[in-house]
Formats: sequence, structure tokens, C-alpha cells
Amino acid sequence: MSFDGVLDGNDGWRAYGWAIDRSRPNEPVEVEYTLSSGGTGTVVADVFRADLKQAGIGDGQHAFAIPLPMRAGDAPQIAVRIKGTSFELRGSPTVQKHREVLALVAGDIVNNCNLRCPFCVVDYAGIRGLKLMTEETFRKAAELMPLVPPGQFWLSCLHEPTMHPRLVDFIESVPLELRNRISFTSNLSRRLPEDWFGRLARSGIHSLRVSFDSRQPEVFGALRAGARYEVFKQNVERLVAALRGTPERPRLHFITMAFQDNVGEIVDLIRYCRHELGADSHEVRFLYYMPHLAQWGKEHILTIEQWDQLEAALQPLKAETALQIAGPVPGTREQFEEQKGLAEYVARENAFGWGDDARQTPVPVPENVANRLPDDTFQLRLRWDGLVVAEGCPEHEFRLNVAQLARPAEYFETLRLAAWQARQPAVRA
Ligand code: SF4
Repeated sequence: MSFDGVLDGNDGWRAYGWAIDRSRPNEPVEVEYTLSSGGTGTVVADVFRADLKQAGIGDGQHAFAIPLPMRAGDAPQIAVRIKGTSFELRGSPTVQKHREVLALVAGDIVNNCNLRCPFCVVDYAGIRGLKLMTEETFRKAAELMPLVPPGQFWLSCLHEPTMHPRLVDFIESVPLELRNRISFTSNLSRRLPEDWFGRLARSGIHSLRVSFDSRQPEVFGALRAGARYEVFKQNVERLVAALRGTPERPRLHFITMAFQDNVGEIVDLIRYCRHELGADSHEVRFLYYMPHLAQWGKEHILTIEQWDQLEAALQPLKAETALQIAGPVPGTREQFEEQKGLAEYVARENAFGWGDDARQTPVPVPENVANRLPDDTFQLRLRWDGLVVAEGCPEHEFRLNVAQLARPAEYFETLRLAAWQARQPAVRA
């Protein structure tokens, strides 16, 4: 038999593989597919793949991609054979996977923070007052939760979510089966309502990330300007006690920024979080360069040698805890030395969307913006007032107010599909 071919797999958006008639190795064949959900069709297997050529599969121009419809039913199957034959590709049939429509919704339910950390990427000099996400906007935004993986619907990206008096009410308003999509980061430095800790522990959310840089009250207070260590400590202890008493609890993740001020205690701090507080994971970060951080950062960031030593000292901890280490972006120290961009820097009111009033933002027609949006990872940033922008796409090309969408999930599914289709010139259905 001269036919050969493999259905390599699918990502929920397309099924892909290769097929060849070895008696005519430089001519493409057609493959026909059948979907258990109802559709059938034909595509030409004529896309070049270097790995096929290297493996001696003709001239390498034998790959195909089948665009898939939205997943229907419990385990929809895709079967592929060479057209006009009974030859079914190896790996066929296969089950259509779930599509990831959105990789992340990085949201904020407020516009401000209770602290003024000298290394904060947000320059609060440009921010006035406390603005809160409304219940209506949250309800609309929450309709996107089924589209994101667990933990990837953030209630805080840039600001402090515990400043919203309805934080826990918002979480509890989400259907139980969707709450594991939610996570947030907090400085845990405000006095919080007593009942929040138990409610958060039982909420069913995916994870809580807590900023924790030092166990020395003076160092803690200097780095987390505006915070008092006793308040933070009490909050952490209450949270940990609540989590310990809850079998299905959220994951507890700590984030430590590394500076001259605390570098000597980071190893012990991670052990303390792991063994005394029951942390599931820990992250150590170097500072990003931003012009408004130029002066403070220059005096407080680690030298490359210090960072390398810290990284070496952290390695053994990987046997004790899940540790993420985010070192300096190349050129960071030089940027601090040069104070890059500081002379022309102006503090902004918003990290994105500038001063836009989200209520005035028209909703783009998906087909009109599809080819400007990324087709692989689709990440949204959501502002307290409902303004949404997409990572990797200029704001003037795409932004909307989620509260204006009649059916937010349907809109983003359509948009994601349109963006994907706009980047598939090789597929001929
Ligand atoms: S706690 Fe976080 S958001 Fe608040 S000022 Fe500090 S770094 Fe910024």
C-alpha cells in the first residue's frame, strides 16, 4: 500500500497532521474528515513542514490543518482518511480538545492601593481617589470566566483588591463551578473584616498571592511603605489558620521582591512561608525598570553578582517548595544607571486606556479587528471601569467596555475565532 499519514493531534481550533501517496511523493493528496458532531469536509495536504522533509516524507509539502467548529457534545471525535480510499490516518480518530479562548483576564476591581511601595510599577502620583468596579461591570466581566483556565481570571493586576469593600461578595456571587478560575494578589496590609478569611478559605477560588518581602518590621515598613508589619502578620496568621481548617482550600503563593534591603533573609523567608505558613509556592522577583523608579531603584537593586549568589542559594529550596525565580530582564541595571526616559517622564492616571472614559468606548466589530489581534495567546487586561484591552495589540486598534457587551463570552469566542481564521492562509477547506 502506498498511502501513509498521521493525524498528529488538535488544539480545539484545528486538527493537524500529514498524508502522502508514496507512489507519487511530490504530489499532494486530499484528506477527508468526519466530525462526530456532524460536519465533513476535505482539505489538501500540501503545507510544507521541515520535519517531514527531514524524515523523507516526499518533498515535505504534505501537512494539513483542518479548521474545527466549536466543540459540541461530551467527547466529539475527528476522523481523517485519504480521500477516495479506506486508508485512515494513524492517530485517527481523536477527541477534539477544549479550546482555550482566553489565556488570561488580568483584571483590577479598584484603581488604587493602600500602600506606596517605592518600587511599585504603578506611579500613584498620577492617581487620585478610590474608584470601584460596580456590581454590574463585575457581573459582565465574570461571564468571561468559562473561557479562561483555572486561576487565570485575576481580580488584581496592578492595584490592591482588598480596597474594594465587596471583594468577597463579588467572589461569592460567581457560580461555585467557576470560582476556581479566580485568583488575586494582595499586600494583606489593611485591617480586613474578620469574616473575610474564612469566607476566602471556603470560597473555592484557585489561589491567593501574598506579597511578603521581610520579617523585619523596619525593613517591611520601608519596602511596603504605608504598611505596619503587625497588621500584615495578624492578617497572614488569620488567613493561614482559615486555610488550615479548610480541606478544599485555595493555593497559597508568596511573592518576594529582592533588594539590597532584604537579600540576606530571603532564603529563610521562603522556608518560613513553606514550613510555618503552609505555602504551596513562592516567587522571587528582581525589579523591572520604570522611569519613575529610577532613583530609588538605582540605590536598592541588587548587583548582578548579588543576584547570581541569591539564585545559587535558592536552588536547594526547589526540593522543598515550588519556587519561581524571575531574574533581571537584560539591560535592567544599565537602564537604572542611565535613568532611562526619566527626563521626559510624566505620571499617568491609568496604566492603559489613559484617561479614557470607558463608557464612551465603542465595541469593535470582530471581523474588523481580527487580523490585528494575536492568534496564539489571547490575554486581556480589564480595568476597574470595564475597559478591556488585549496584550500584543495596540490600544487604539482594540479596546472596549465589557459592560457594553450583551453576551461577553459569545463576543470573545467570535473574536478569537476570527483572529485565528485571519492567520490561517495555508488552510484550504
Ligand atoms: S502593594 Fe503592590 S500595588 Fe500596592 S503600592 Fe505596593 S507594589 Fe504597588
